[in-house]
Amino acid sequence: MDRTLKLALGSIAVGALVLGLKYFAYHLTGSIALYSDALESIINVATAIAAFFAVRLSAEPPDANHPYGHYKAEYLSAILEGVMIVVASLSILREAYHGFLAPKPLDAPFEGLIVNAAASLINAAWCAILLRYGRRWRSPALVADAKHLWTDVITSGGVIIGVGLTAMTGWLQLDPLLAALVALNILWAGWKLMRESIGGLMDEATPPETLARVRNIISTHANGALEAHDLRTRHAGRATFIEFHLVVPGTMTVSESHALCDQIEAALHKDIPDLIIHIHVEPEEKAKHPGGVPIV
Ligand code: ZN
Ligand code: ZN
Repeated sequence: MDRTLKLALGSIAVGALVLGLKYFAYHLTGSIALYSDALESIINVATAIAAFFAVRLSAEPPDANHPYGHYKAEYLSAILEGVMIVVASLSILREAYHGFLAPKPLDAPFEGLIVNAAASLINAAWCAILLRYGRRWRSPALVADAKHLWTDVITSGGVIIGVGLTAMTGWLQLDPLLAALVALNILWAGWKLMRESIGGLMDEATPPETLARVRNIISTHANGALEAHDLRTRHAGRATFIEFHLVVPGTMTVSESHALCDQIEAALHKDIPDLIIHIHVEPEEKAKHPGGVPIV
């Protein structure tokens, strides 16, 4: 099995263990803040499972049914995550609202806090492992996972302090207030995730830095061509799609212009991973200078 998939399975197992502990901590105390923390864990586990299948599916090579590949499968899991985030936040906000109107004292707060802290320590340890392998294998997805998990550890730290304060001061409304804060934080994280996936589904262009690099590579590697225009880019999951028209002298042979295309493609592949390129060759009367990429 692929090493990234093994780590993904590890994330699912660790997430399930942490979820069990956090739910137990909520059960011990009845704290709404600890409930919100446990719900956040459910999202992590469900996301890890969806991501596991999405990563496997998106790595499948193109087939007759999906000639452009399966890259967008990753967005499906992100959208599922977004929907779960909204449902979880609404559920926490409802509990927080009722808890605020009719606050209840916490049962066994310190036992609950110890269980929750143990879960957070496991999360922190797994986070360190993900970060180490993510950096070693240069996997942005793993590093992003580790960073996301780290924000969960920080949130849990805040919740633990808050529930401790609730128990010590007897200010019972602090607990639902804290839960509402966690809910808003989850919503914000969910929005950022959805925003990214919508961009991919809507065939958003690559970021301006990448586009500038692409233009630069075309202009320095197309010696013999006259101009490139109608450059279009989009991305789907980890794949980047690039297409443009390459204007060459009408007297250039098909073999020569094809070799030129291969040369540009090789230079682009060297600089940008997971690239799918299409070049359309045209004779010089098709040149249209405004907006085109000049060849240096
Ligand atoms: Zn053209
Ligand atoms: Zn070819």
